[in-house]
Amino acid sequence: MATMIAARLHAYGAPMTLDRIEMPEPRPTDVVIEVKACGVVPNLARVISNFFGTLTPDNKMMPPLPAIFGLDPAGVVAKVGAQVFSVRPGERVYVNPGRSCGSCKMCRSGQDYDCPSWTLQGYFGRSQEIMRAYPYGGLAQFIAAPATALVKLPETLSFEAAARFGYLGTAYAAMKKIGVGPGHTLLINGISGQLGLNAAQLALAMGATKILGTGRNQSLLDRVKTLSPQRIDVLSVPDALPGPTDPLVAWAKNATEGHGVDGMIDCLPPGAPASAMLRALFALRRGGRAVNVGAIMETLPLNAFWMMTNRIGLQGSVWFTTGEGEEMAAMVAAGTLDLSALEHRVSPLSEVNDVLAGMDNRNGGFTNFVIDPTRTQG
Ligand SMILES: [Zn+2]
Repeated sequence: MATMIAARLHAYGAPMTLDRIEMPEPRPTDVVIEVKACGVVPNLARVISNFFGTLTPDNKMMPPLPAIFGLDPAGVVAKVGAQVFSVRPGERVYVNPGRSCGSCKMCRSGQDYDCPSWTLQGYFGRSQEIMRAYPYGGLAQFIAAPATALVKLPETLSFEAAARFGYLGTAYAAMKKIGVGPGHTLLINGISGQLGLNAAQLALAMGATKILGTGRNQSLLDRVKTLSPQRIDVLSVPDALPGPTDPLVAWAKNATEGHGVDGMIDCLPPGAPASAMLRALFALRRGGRAVNVGAIMETLPLNAFWMMTNRIGLQGSVWFTTGEGEEMAAMVAAGTLDLSALEHRVSPLSEVNDVLAGMDNRNGGFTNFVIDPTRTQG
């Protein structure tokens, strides 16, 4: 029996252990990938602590234990199923973890991201059946996934940078929804975190004319501005009540001949107050559109009459399609998407618990936490 090493969680709140388990075999439409890099998101530490368990002991969001986590795996195709015709062993790929049921009305209509069973492989989701069907996250030497989940990687895109596709794709799909492109002035609320930095890199690639970014750490903001001193402006936001006299709103209007920004993407972290998002909404011009991919959990006191009379749009967005992943890979191949500012902090699988415990120690969004399972001693 072929075996592999995987980091597995046996109890919420306990550390992961390295276990030797059976290697996955591809079903007819699946592919098995040797993982070369898997991104680790800071929120994983919170998720595998007793966070959800405390809220609902019988929760259906989390995978059955023991579980293999790991959202953003990139690697090399090792085996393909009998009905996989356009992917071959040896190809470099990223595995999009977004899984859906494949047979409901939304899936059959090509809107699989609106599937009621939508689940993130290697993380959590809405379907225990899907989590049982695909019990492999990227914190393992091999992972099985549907062939339709694969983004093919150009040679110029490293496995470590591809392991950042979760944040990149989340920002990309969101910015497409609000029409970021040439002529567009975009406000990135929280530009120095993981999502915000990736949003800035993508907005430059997508042709946004002017990018305004807010944050709190001036030295991180100064670093973000060096990505494109001509097109990026940053503001360290003081605490203020949202409204027309807010210095953030005044700054945004000043940069746009008094109109306000065309679009806003909110990338604020969990724990940020609702007022921090509200003030960024007030920076929109008449007819401006906002999209939320941040983690603000407070309820927003939004004035629907103000939104109607100013024709304001506000939309939520989650993750990205495999097609959007292919578009990002194509932008890297063309040289338009520059990810060279990322600092990859690569660790072996055996150090996964230390990595999860040490994620607060980072250079804002520039640090990219990666586990490389090929360094594991079995
Ligand atoms: Zn479905």
